[in-house]
Amino acid sequence: TIGMLCMDKNGDIAGACSTSGLAYKMKGRVGDSPIIGSGLFIDNEVGGAVATGLGEEVVKTVGSFLIVELMRQGKTPQEACEEAIKRITSKGDDYKDFQIAYIAMNKAGETGAYCIHKGFAMMKYQDDKNERVEVDYFNK
Ligand code: ASP
Repeated sequence: TIGMLCMDKNGDIAGACSTSGLAYKMKGRVGDSPIIGSGLFIDNEVGGAVATGLGEEVVKTVGSFLIVELMRQGKTPQEACEEAIKRITSKGDDYKDFQIAYIAMNKAGETGAYCIHKGFAMMKYQDDKNERVEVDYFNK
């Protein structure tokens, strides 16, 4: 999945995601990316989030919606992404076999990202600066 979150000069947030789909997927499988709230969710009053990785696990926790709701309750984008990953990893050891990553942004333009395993990066363009950010991860 390529996930994108953007804020315009008025502070309005938009987001989008593509999906690679899942390798060897069953015919008819629908991943998280096309399901609003799972692979992508925006509430312009709060912020937005996008997911990549094993869609089944994102759908089970309605991950992007969860992150936006956590930000609504006062968590930073980083804290919200970490909580959403921990919802998945706390269910058992299965997470060792798959990757999930989230990125999030709030109305203040603050961003966060977190993933299960090392090796995920995001590009961040803010204040005329373009940077590649290595994303922190759970499985250390
Ligand atoms: N999230 C996608 C899916 O499960 C896979 C991807 O990250 O492209 O369909």
